[in-house]
Parts: sequence; C-alpha cells; structure tokens
Amino acid sequence: MAIKYNDFNSKLENYLVTQKERLVSDWLDIVRIPSISSTGDGVSLCCDTIVEKMRSIGLDVTVYPVKPYPAIFAKYGDDPKKKTVLIYAHYDVQPADPIDEWKTPPFEPTIIDGIVYGRGTSDNKGPLMAHLKATEFWLKNYGELPVNIKFIFEGCEENSSLGLPEFLNDNRELLQADLVYFSDGPRHESGLPTVALGAKGMLYLELTLESSKRDAHSMYAPILPNAAWELIELLYKLKNNGEVKIPGFYDNVQEISELESEFMRKLPNVVDEIIETFGVEPVIPPEKTYYEQLLNMPTFNISGFTSGYTGEGGKTVLPSTATAKIDIRLVANQSCDEIYEKLVNYIEELGYDNVEIVKKGGVEPSKTPIETKYLPLIEKATRETFGEYIVYPCRPSTAPDYLWTNILGLPAIQVRWCDADSGNHAPNEKLAIDTYIKGIECTSRVIRIIGEEGLCTPL
Ligand SMILES: [Zn+2]
Repeated sequence: MAIKYNDFNSKLENYLVTQKERLVSDWLDIVRIPSISSTGDGVSLCCDTIVEKMRSIGLDVTVYPVKPYPAIFAKYGDDPKKKTVLIYAHYDVQPADPIDEWKTPPFEPTIIDGIVYGRGTSDNKGPLMAHLKATEFWLKNYGELPVNIKFIFEGCEENSSLGLPEFLNDNRELLQADLVYFSDGPRHESGLPTVALGAKGMLYLELTLESSKRDAHSMYAPILPNAAWELIELLYKLKNNGEVKIPGFYDNVQEISELESEFMRKLPNVVDEIIETFGVEPVIPPEKTYYEQLLNMPTFNISGFTSGYTGEGGKTVLPSTATAKIDIRLVANQSCDEIYEKLVNYIEELGYDNVEIVKKGGVEPSKTPIETKYLPLIEKATRETFGEYIVYPCRPSTAPDYLWTNILGLPAIQVRWCDADSGNHAPNEKLAIDTYIKGIECTSRVIRIIGEEGLCTPL
C-alpha cells in the first residue's frame, strides 16, 4: 500500500494547485447561504446544497430528520480491514449581528488580499468543505480511500447541538468508527495549529436569593436583611481564597499524568502576553504550572451579579432579591449532575431556604486519553502540513466533545487550524484561502496516515 501511494505528495500538491479555483468556489457556495440555527434562516437550503456537493464527490449520503435541523450522514467504504474515521463538522452559523460592523456583506463572501470575509468562512464551513475536498482528492486520484470514511454534519452546533445527543445515542451502530476527527476553531494565540484531545464541560446556573417580600427604603437597613449582602456571604462560603468549598467538588478531578505533564511543558509560554492583555499577573498556586492550572482545574466563576439599583446616579434602595450568574467549568470525570447535586446539598446544609438554583445549561466534560495511538498519527499529519504545532491534552474552553467520547465511546481528536484571528461569532469573520487549502492538505494526510496504520495493524 505504501508503494501505491508513494506519489502522494506530488499528486496532492498538483491537485491543490490546479483545482484551487474550484476548491474555493465550492466553499464560498455554502458561505453564501446563511444557515443561522438560532432563527432557522437558510438552514435547509444550506443542508440541501451540501448534500448535493457530497453526492457529486461519490459519497453515499442520508439526511436524518433530527429536530430542529437535519443531520447529514455520509460514508464511503466498508472494508473491515481498514480503519474507519468519523469526521464531524457543523453547517450552521451564528447570526451576523451586529450587522453595521461588517465591512462586507456577511453572506456575500468577499475576497480581499487572499482572505475570504463572510459569516461561517471559518466557523465551520471552511473546515467542513476542507474535509470533503480531501475526500474528493483521494477518490479522484486513487479511486478509493485507504480508510472507511463517515461524515456527520449537524445544523445546530451554534444553538447547543439540539437533537444531536439523542441522534448519536440512537445510532451508535451507524456511527461506529475507530476515531472521530474534526476541526472547529482557531489556532492557539501563538498562531500555531492546535491538536486537542478534549474540552472542559460547563454547568451554567443562576442563584437567586430572596431576603424579603419587597424592596425597601434603605433607612430600614438596620432592621431588615439585604439580599445583596446575603448572596455575597453565600458566594463567599461557596468559594474563597481561590478554592471552591462545596464538599466533594474536587473529588473526581484526576491527577495530571506524567505524559500529560510532558505535553504541557512543551506548550508556549504566554504569561507575558496575558500580563500585557489583561494588565495583571495570572494567579497560579506555587505547586502548579500555568497550563496545569489552566487546563486541569475546574472553575467556579461569577459571570454576573444583579441586585438593587444599577442605573445611573444614586437610589437608596434596600434590595429584596439578588441574582448571581455562575459558570462552572468541569474537567474530565466530573459531571454536571454530580456537581449540581453537591452544590444544592451544600446550600441546603448551610441552612438556606430562600435560594432558588436554576440550571440554565450543561455540557459534560470530555477527554481522550493522551496515550491514544491515534495522537502520534494526527500529530504526524499536522507536522507534515503545518510544521510547528501544539498539543492540548484538554482545552480550557467548553465544547461538546463528550458526544464522541462519552456517548459513542470513541477517541476524538481535533486539529484547530483556522487563522488565530478568524473572528468566529464576531463581525468580519474571515479565513485566508491559503489556510483553507492547508486544511484540505491536513485532512488528506490524516486519511493517508490513519490508513497506513490500519493496514499494519493485525486484525
Ligand atoms: Zn461557533
């Protein structure tokens, strides 16, 4: 097999150069269709257009009526001797708001100096099309793939992936694979592509404390309770001196393995950039490194607090209610239900009967073990394509990687190669044409390298 593909580099280079115009125009065709999952605008047209393009490559495509938006499943090959790669992407986008801040119309992709501006160029239509074009490269040049390939494209990622967990649960057999591969997000701040093996989860809550029936004139402060003070006191009991005090909060946090530490030590030192950006030194316990603290610690963050009068000028009110918005980022092995229960029990144990806890959302944490044999293979493809790169054993932000690791039970690795300044979700979202072409190259190499691995592994 290795001999058969030994002209791979020249074939790939030739394809990326000679087909460039078409590779780009197919990508722009889908950027032109809005597909906004929060409103439904253009979603079904975009879905149909992608399906058509997938069929023209030669893929066997099925559209599943997942609610609220269809999921596209496709496959090529069913050879038990080959590895199976499941590629994920999403075809929906964020709304274009604030529309006035766009320098070019968000759904008229515009090329300026080799960069395409438009909503969804980077998040996630560029990577989606790059995966398809890599598959097309293989089929056009070799008439086959060295792996079995499956695609799952959802239309609701920007709106909590509604319907997808149920779909995956009901279709485990259909989606069975050796590895999930995807590219959703910009590079690291340093400009290096990022290979990532998981993401933090998130439990999002609102705590509302009611201290009396109604707001009062603040002259009553000597005799009436104040909801703002009571909630501040409660929050202090939940976290103080850098430590969450909810009993058992850290119980399931796993120690960092020697191998993970080794990977973390190789990550770029960004402390100076952090100081420059935020004007403050990062707070890191002496026994930990920057990345050990950033990547492996759960958080308990107050993201908003409202009580009393918050308008211009003064108003001497004594508030009867106070609300804190809390986001808790979870690390592998913790779960939303577990942490929610521990929080509720502790608040009850502290004697509060006037606090309402409303769960606003939850995403489970996820981690693919760094020992996975697929990591060196994905690293090889990344290195061959981009040169330098970094590996995040787990990302500090939240993404629904648990869909693959927890529901399907598969290793999931992503290579984030979009430009670091793509501006996902913001006005003037963009992706350089050269970066997109590199993305096609990366997936083409992933297919080759995983394929070679499949053939040398005894069945
Ligand atoms: Zn997004």
